[in-house]
Amino acid sequence: MASETSTADTVNNFVRDIIKDDLGAGRVTGVVTRFPPEPNGYLHLGHAKSICLNFGVAEEFGGRCHLRFDDTNPAKEEQEYIDAIMRDVRWLGFDWGEHLYHASDYFEQLYDWAVHLIKTGHAYVDDLSKDEMSALKGDWNKPGQNSPFRERSAEENLDLFARMRAGEFPEGARVLRAKIDMTSGNMNLRDPVLYRILHTAHPRTGNAWCIYPNYDFAHGQSDAIEHVTHSLCTLEFEDHRPLYDWFLDNLPVPARPRQYEFARLNLAYTVLSKRILTKLVEDGHVTGWDDPRMPTIAGMRRRGVPAAALRAFVRSIGVARAYSTVGLDQFEAPIREHLNTAAERRMAVLRPLKLVIENYPQGQTETLTAINHPNDPGAGTREVTFGREIYIERDDFMEVPVKKFHRLAPGAEVRLRYAYLVTCTGVVKDESGVVVEVHCTYDPATRGGNAPDGRKVKGTIHWVAADAVPADIRLFNPLFTRPDPGANGHVLDDINPQSLEVLHGALVEPSVAALPVGEAVQFERTGYFCADLNSRPGALIFNRTVGLNDTWAKVQAGGG
Ligand code: ATP
Ligand code: MG
Repeated sequence: MASETSTADTVNNFVRDIIKDDLGAGRVTGVVTRFPPEPNGYLHLGHAKSICLNFGVAEEFGGRCHLRFDDTNPAKEEQEYIDAIMRDVRWLGFDWGEHLYHASDYFEQLYDWAVHLIKTGHAYVDDLSKDEMSALKGDWNKPGQNSPFRERSAEENLDLFARMRAGEFPEGARVLRAKIDMTSGNMNLRDPVLYRILHTAHPRTGNAWCIYPNYDFAHGQSDAIEHVTHSLCTLEFEDHRPLYDWFLDNLPVPARPRQYEFARLNLAYTVLSKRILTKLVEDGHVTGWDDPRMPTIAGMRRRGVPAAALRAFVRSIGVARAYSTVGLDQFEAPIREHLNTAAERRMAVLRPLKLVIENYPQGQTETLTAINHPNDPGAGTREVTFGREIYIERDDFMEVPVKKFHRLAPGAEVRLRYAYLVTCTGVVKDESGVVVEVHCTYDPATRGGNAPDGRKVKGTIHWVAADAVPADIRLFNPLFTRPDPGANGHVLDDINPQSLEVLHGALVEPSVAALPVGEAVQFERTGYFCADLNSRPGALIFNRTVGLNDTWAKVQAGGG
């Protein structure tokens, strides 16, 4: 398990306090948690929060955390998702060891417990249709009414339930319901459905079953079977807790897990719902579950967010019961902080503009030394080629500079990173008036970028030389145009048509071409990047993970 997780969630985490109390008071002797995904989609950032919490507290208190697939709905679950979930949990830095389980492992036990409930008068087979059942369910203001089938004898119920299992009835013909209280103020206690008929094969149990337990009937008992001590889930399950407890009270379960709820992670401009993420994938709004714009763990990995940075983000938001929405700045800050330390520096020009140094000898090149990491001398240096014609960022030149523009403009002197001070002497334009070349002269006495006379040059810009390698660079914007997608209508109407910007013909330092896929690098002044999964020699693709703090943007916006 990753060492950073040992201090996980030291910030604002009421769950740790509960566990400490339980251990201190002897209510539990060890800690067992679980992460229980339903394999109907890829894991997203919300799941990352739950994973870090569950595995984090287990590790902190010397316990264990299970990975359990809640695979009770064969209609929506797929092997691809199961594989992706395991890959993503491991990548995030956690290990369930031998404790891999499936709700489907317990189908036989759950069936026996359903029979137990029938025998003790706590469950019955209902023949009502779905519509008839919901008509009798009532609502918040109106108590429900008992089904006419509620008082069937145990014998009749046992017979019907066995025949449901044997496949005698079509889907929807009958269900097994708990017999609790149709007038309860908690809708979950109004005789919830425990089993329904589904003539669908299951990824693990194949055709062994044609009745499947509902999530609510499987979840708490699965925890009990696994001797989970602290069953941690999100707040929408708070209202289900009385039902889970009712099952535990009325069944001969081997252990008594306690459930604690915490607030879901909500992220601004982002949707964390597998249902909607599935829609984005199926309708082609993104290229797949691992599209770098997706808030999935796979998408984040492809985008270049290191696992440790994702854990740092989760740590930074803490765990609480109050709902809140995390801003994108809060999301990016810990990632940027992590990458600032982890990523080596290189130079790349995203939107190249040719710079011709008129007084630099034709045909001459020289080698300059560039620093790989400003805060880590151990990262060493590398050599970069310099010559008469180089490329700078189009944004680093303004023919008519605005106030406080300290970069290149006619007559202005600027520092070329690691190289020389240059002064702009003029431009070359095409027929339509677009600047296609900037001309300048350099001061040979300033090799390395410092003037011997100590004259002040405010601006430093990056560049690449004639040996630079072309690359496509992908810049990402949020997938949605509003901080609360869907709040004012349909969520798909809030999709950002400009979430992806591809810069063709960017130029990167030659050393960048050899970077392994996914390895973080800072392109000086433009952000943190990594080579995409589909990057190939001769067809390089870089994804921008996050930008740098851009003070210039603030100046332009009038922020000073
Ligand atoms: P979704 O709403 O995206 O479908 P889910 O809750 O249905 O998510 P599950 O696979 O059932 O997805 O969730 C597995 C675990 O992850 C659950 O314990 C759930 O509470 C937790 N989880 C899901 N979404 C979030 C979130 N946004 N923040 C924190 N935990 C989450
Ligand atoms: Mg769910």
